[in-house]
This record gives sequence, structure tokens and C-alpha cells, in this order.
Amino acid sequence: MIPFLDLHSLNAPYLNEINRAVAAVVNSGRYIGGEQVTAFENALARYQDAPCVVGVSNGLDALTLIFLAYIEIGVMKPGQEVIVPANTYIASLLAVSRAGLIPVPVDADIETLNMDTSLIEQAIKPGVTAAIMTVHLYGRICWDATLEGVARKYNLKIVEDNAQAIGARLADGRVAGSLGDAAGFSFYPTKNLGAMGDAGAVVTRDEELAGVVRALANYGSSRRYHNEYLGLNCRMDPMQAAVLNVKLPYLDGDNQRRRELAAIYSGDPSMTEALDRNFHQYVILNPRRDDLREFLASNGIGTDIHYPTPPHRQPCYRNQLGNYTYPVAERIAREILSLPIAPYLTDNQAKTIKSILTQFK
Ligand SMILES: *Cc1c(COP(=O)(O)O)cnc(C)c1O
Repeated sequence: MIPFLDLHSLNAPYLNEINRAVAAVVNSGRYIGGEQVTAFENALARYQDAPCVVGVSNGLDALTLIFLAYIEIGVMKPGQEVIVPANTYIASLLAVSRAGLIPVPVDADIETLNMDTSLIEQAIKPGVTAAIMTVHLYGRICWDATLEGVARKYNLKIVEDNAQAIGARLADGRVAGSLGDAAGFSFYPTKNLGAMGDAGAVVTRDEELAGVVRALANYGSSRRYHNEYLGLNCRMDPMQAAVLNVKLPYLDGDNQRRRELAAIYSGDPSMTEALDRNFHQYVILNPRRDDLREFLASNGIGTDIHYPTPPHRQPCYRNQLGNYTYPVAERIAREILSLPIAPYLTDNQAKTIKSILTQFK
């Protein structure tokens, strides 16, 4: 029996260190902010080669705060539009909506499963569109000259949803989450850098933006009892920061292990060098996905579906987006299947899964 993902096995190599780090917070008497949060912000800033990191409560809040901060600064206005991929987790769109902006989906590329960047320009309304949100889905970077060119031409911000691609790098060495104007990170327990609860971060080179994000996440206040903005409470929990401080140094090794497993699944040894992907998920498409999933389950292999319903088909977006069709995203939702890809899997387990897969008729 190989479960799709076992979080205890995932964290097992780090449990001694994590127990010590969390105990230090417990014994410190300081439970909001403090050393562990600051240390994690600094460590992530070094990893991202970016000057500004704000630790926050989760990935959805990170993305929401970015848009709210752009509105406070006057860079965006409520009611403006944000280009988003049609194939993504719904949180990408929820962040846009929660900030009072309008998500405008763009269909996916069936090869990369990410946004088809050649379709972005036709979705832009000059003066109305404020930003492009690029989502590096399944851990594969979505970034190219077309995306950059359109953003420059129409003076749009590029916000990265980097919940899934931490540690993935372009050929020039730039890392996901430091490509655009600002990025939201998630450290949800199943992510490649996972906490033991909810956590997230905003990463940017824009010091003004970072300052407003930090204030917004703290009741709109950067000075005690002085509230500049209608803020929220979205701070990073120091217990989670302690866990993340332990795990960040192991991230690159874990990502590389995922590439090795991907090489076994795909039969393509060059996958070990696919540095622009961290294989947050290893996904395959099959027109008989549900049968395949049952076949794998009957052979003791757990799988998952990311995601069975695209955001524009969700009841919460029925009024806004229900009349639109995005054929590629809809096909992906019907055919996609995620195989186990956690770093603790052995080569033999991956080979077993691959051989069972080839027996599906
Ligand atoms: C996980 C995820 C989020 C949301 O992160 P949370 O920490 O769960 O709020 C946003 N976007 C994508 C693509 C994600 O995978």
C-alpha cells in the first residue's frame, strides 16, 4: 500500500530538530512575532535573493495582502481586472476577488498545463486590467518573454502565485517567487516547504509594497495603536516559523529527490535536470482518468486529483464566470491525475507504481 501522501513520513527526517525548535518557542514566553519569524523572513530573503519578505498566516492571505497593498498605494483600483490562469487552485482567484478586483481567466496550454501566455494579450483591457497573476502550477514555472512583454506593454504588475514552485529556477538562475513584482508563498503542510499548520509569505523587491503588506497584516498598523489602514490580522505564527527554519535548508535536496522520482515515472533521465520544476505534483493526463484511478487504488496505489473542478465552474463564481468556457482547463480537470511524489518514496516504490501504470488497459 502506497498512500498518495503521508505527512508523518514526509516530516520524519526532521522531527528531532522540529521538536527542539518548537519547544524553544514554547519556553520563550513570546508567542506572536519574535525571533523565529524574523529569522525565517531573513532566511527566505536570502534564498529568494529578494530584499523584502513578510511572513504571514497562509498563502491565500499572502496573495490577498499583495493586492490590498497595491490598492492602498494607489497602483490598483477596486473593480480593476487581474488576468489569472483558468487551470489553478481556486485560492488564486479568491485572493483577487477578496481584494475587490475581478479575476479574468486565460485558458491553459495542454503541454505545460500552465497559462497559455499567447492568449494573455487578447484578454487585456487597457486601463482596466491592472495585473497578471502567473501561477507556477504543479511546481512548474510559468514565465516567458511573451508574459513579460505584455506586462511591459500595458504597464501591468506581475504577481506570482508561488504556492507550489518554491525552489524552481529559470535557466538564468532566477528563482520562482522572485521573477515578478511580488509573490505569494504557501507553507501549507503538503507544499514542498510545508509547515505543521498554516503559514505563508510575501516576497518582493518593492520596499513600499512590503511595508504596506506588513502593516495590513497587523491591523493596518506599523506603529502600536496607530492604524494607518483598515487592516487584518494575518501574521505568521512563530511555531510555524520554527518548523520552517528547520526545513528550509533541506528544501533543495527534497526538490531534487522529487526530480529523481519524476525521472523514473517518465522514463526520461533528463528530468533530474529540470530545475524549472520542483514536481510539487507529478501529474498525468488520461481520458479514462477515473478508471485509471480505481485501477491504481485496487493495486494499493493512492492518487489525488488537482483539481476536479476549475474555478470558473465552482458555484461561488457561477454568476461572474459561469458563462465562460475554457476548453483546455476543462479537459485537464477531466483527465488529470496526481501520482505519489513525496521525497520519502524509494526508487523501488516509484518503479512499482510505473509498472502498475503500464498494466492499465
Ligand atoms: C496552496 C495554494 C494556495 C493557498 O495557500 P494556503 O496556504 O492553503 O492558503 C494558493 N494557490 C495555490 C496554487 C496553491 O496551491
